[in-house]
Amino acid sequence: MSGTVRSIEPIVLRYPEPNDFNNMRMTMLVRLTTSAGGVGWGEGIAMWPEACKASAAIIADGFAPLLVGHPVGEIEAAWWKMKRHAWWYGEGGIASFALSAVDMALWDAFGAEIGQSVGTLLGGVVQPKLPANATMHVNKATLEENIAEIAGHISAGFRSVKLGLGKRGLANIGPEPESVLAFITALRAALGPGPGIMVDIGNGIRWDPPTAIRVARALEPLEIGWIEEPLYPADIEGYRRLRAATTLTIASGEREWTIEGYKRLLATETVDVFGIDPGRAEGVTGFRAVTRLVEAAHRQVNAHAFSTAITTAASLHLSAATTASRIFEIKPHPSPMQHELVRTPIWHEGGYATPPAGPGLGIVVDERVVEKYRVA
Ligand SMILES: [Mg+2]
Repeated sequence: MSGTVRSIEPIVLRYPEPNDFNNMRMTMLVRLTTSAGGVGWGEGIAMWPEACKASAAIIADGFAPLLVGHPVGEIEAAWWKMKRHAWWYGEGGIASFALSAVDMALWDAFGAEIGQSVGTLLGGVVQPKLPANATMHVNKATLEENIAEIAGHISAGFRSVKLGLGKRGLANIGPEPESVLAFITALRAALGPGPGIMVDIGNGIRWDPPTAIRVARALEPLEIGWIEEPLYPADIEGYRRLRAATTLTIASGEREWTIEGYKRLLATETVDVFGIDPGRAEGVTGFRAVTRLVEAAHRQVNAHAFSTAITTAASLHLSAATTASRIFEIKPHPSPMQHELVRTPIWHEGGYATPPAGPGLGIVVDERVVEKYRVA
C-alpha cells in the first residue's frame, strides 16, 4: 500500500554547466515525502532566478497545501487538482514548471513505494534501448576545434549529435546561413556517411522563411536527421512555407507548455518531431498525454533532456515507453547535475541508453549535493 503526501518542498539550485560554456544555470527541484516514509524527486526547469522563485512560491503556497494528504498513487487526480488551480496563474509557463515538478515527484514516490519503475507504471518499456545522441552547444572558436569535438563524441560511442547553434561561447557559426552551411558540409565530410546530425538553430538565431528555406534545401544532400526551430516557434505561417519547400525533417515544440499547446501545434501539420520536456510541459503525465497524441498522428516525439539527472531519468522512462521516440539526448560532458547529483549517472552503453532499472525514476539523489548547490 502506498501512503499519502506528507510534504512537498521546492528547492532552487544554481550550478555550473560544462555543456553550456560553464555558464551558471538554475533549476528547481521538488522533494516530496509520503506518510509511508518515502521520498520522491521532481524537477521544474525554471532557469532564471525570478522564474525559480515564482515556481517555488506556487508550490509552497499553492500546490503543497492542495495536495498534502492526497493518496500518492492517485497521480492523475493530483494532476487535475493542480491543473484546475493553475488556471488562476495563467496556464503554461511558470505554472507548468511547478506542476511538472510535483507531478514528476509523485511518479517517483509512487513507483518507489510499490517497487515498480516509472517505465512499468507507464505501461511498460517498448523500446528497451534507444540510440544515444550527444546534445551539445557548438561553442569553440574554430571550425576545426568544433569538428574535432563532435568527432570525439562519435568515436566515444554516441550514434548521433544534435548541434545547438548560436549559443554562448567563442563560435561564430550562425546566424549567417553561409557559416552554418560551411560548418555542416565540413562536418559531414569529416564524419563520413552514417552518424546522424541534428541541427538545432534555436533561440540565438532568427531567420526569416526565405533564409530558412534556402538553408534547408542546401542541407538536404547532407543526411541531416532534422532541422530544429529554424524559425520562431510561433511563426506557423513561416513553418508552412518551409514545410512546402523542403524534404528535411522539421523539429519544434519545446516552447509549448501544455497538452493543449501541443495539440494545436500538431494540427498545423508543420512539425515532424515534437520536442518535449517533462520538467516543463506538465510533468510525466503531460509528456505521456502528448506522446499519445503524437503516436496517433504517426509523428515523432523527442525528449528535451538538458537539465538534471532527475528530468533525464523521467525522459528516458517516457521515451522507452513509446514507439514514437527514435533517439535519446545526453549531454556529453560530465556535469554536476548529471554526474554528481545521482549515485549512478545516466549514460549510454555501446551507444545506447537504457532506462534505469530501480523503482520510481530509478535514481538515487545525493542530498549532500542538493545542499551544495542549493540557493539560500
Ligand atoms: Mg532545441
